[in-house]
Amino acid sequence: MKTTRQNFEQFKLDSLKSAKRVVIKVGSAVLTTPRGLDLRVISRLIDDISLVHDQGKEVVLVSSGAVAAGCKVMSSCKLKPELTYKQATSAIGQSRLMHLYDEGFARFSKVTAQVLLTRDDLRDRERFLNARNTFLKLLEWRVIPVVNENDTVAVQELKFGDNDQLAALILNLVEADLFINLTSAQGVFDKNPQLYPEARKIDYIEDITSLDLNSLCEGSSAEGTGGMYSKLLAAKRAAQIGVPTVILPGKERFILEKLFQGQNVGTWVLPEEKKISRRKFWLAYNLDPEGKVIVDKGAGLALQKGKSLLPVGIKEVEGEFGKGALLSILSEDGEIIGVGLSNYSSADIAKMLGCKSSELKDLLDESFVYPEVIHADNLLLKAYF
Ligand code: GLU
Repeated sequence: MKTTRQNFEQFKLDSLKSAKRVVIKVGSAVLTTPRGLDLRVISRLIDDISLVHDQGKEVVLVSSGAVAAGCKVMSSCKLKPELTYKQATSAIGQSRLMHLYDEGFARFSKVTAQVLLTRDDLRDRERFLNARNTFLKLLEWRVIPVVNENDTVAVQELKFGDNDQLAALILNLVEADLFINLTSAQGVFDKNPQLYPEARKIDYIEDITSLDLNSLCEGSSAEGTGGMYSKLLAAKRAAQIGVPTVILPGKERFILEKLFQGQNVGTWVLPEEKKISRRKFWLAYNLDPEGKVIVDKGAGLALQKGKSLLPVGIKEVEGEFGKGALLSILSEDGEIIGVGLSNYSSADIAKMLGCKSSELKDLLDESFVYPEVIHADNLLLKAYF
């Protein structure tokens, strides 16, 4: 059903009122000036977040700014794209940033906790669950966790991408019910406002999954790594697990207060009606595919209808992997259909290409476990990532 303006206003007020656990992400472009950390903005932000916290809501803050802050401390250092530069500057900047949050929130008798994560921490299911327990304990104590990527040790290939994507993973980890993304822009515009003065702010986006994000996002801000594309991608992921996103101008005074008063600020991205499970979300976005299976047209259609992947539809297998690996599922034209967890190793799949499920028991003997190679419960279609 299409969302009307009236429905949207009601949805907005209900979501703001009922949200219990809010993830607030703030980007480097909001937190810094050309001379370093913007103390005025940070102080205002702390006031504003404290107001939200005082309404009884739990808050997780995902804050960028370590690299930008660290770089400006070292006057001899110009921000360079090399990894070691970023790693060293983030080590300098992170402690300064954290110091400001600690002291600032203490003015309101609030306690903060630093949580630095690498992608590896969330990839391993056990470590994921441990991290989750830590967050839940901190929130139970009414502490405000301040999260950033552990840039000092994260290597390029294993990075989250950027803090927008890290925040989307945190939404799933802590089961948040509202995502606020504070950026240097006023919200999402129908055209690039720097090029077209007549560009208009979009108040809400529904059905983000079917939107062409590239066409909405020419250009990105200079300080952060993400730009608007990345904000919308994170919002799309949030929408998949039923969490609404608000993209807000983070430098604007009392912006969170205005939001919670129901004013028309920023852009809302509405959640999908059909949510995916948090476990599917975890497997699709936290893991990397270790191999590929190429499937025929019939199997591709069956998967779109929510069916499992059976050996009879598999034409080829690529890569060497064990049971439980995440696989990309491709059509014969090389188009990605989805990703899913394999019940079998690459060696076993190679033996069963094109076979009927009823033949598997004889073919595999001891290694036979399930008739499906990828069960529908462990599979996520492309439309979702
Ligand atoms: N972790 C980086 C920092 O603190 C920011 C990454 C991002 O903004 O996406 O500087």
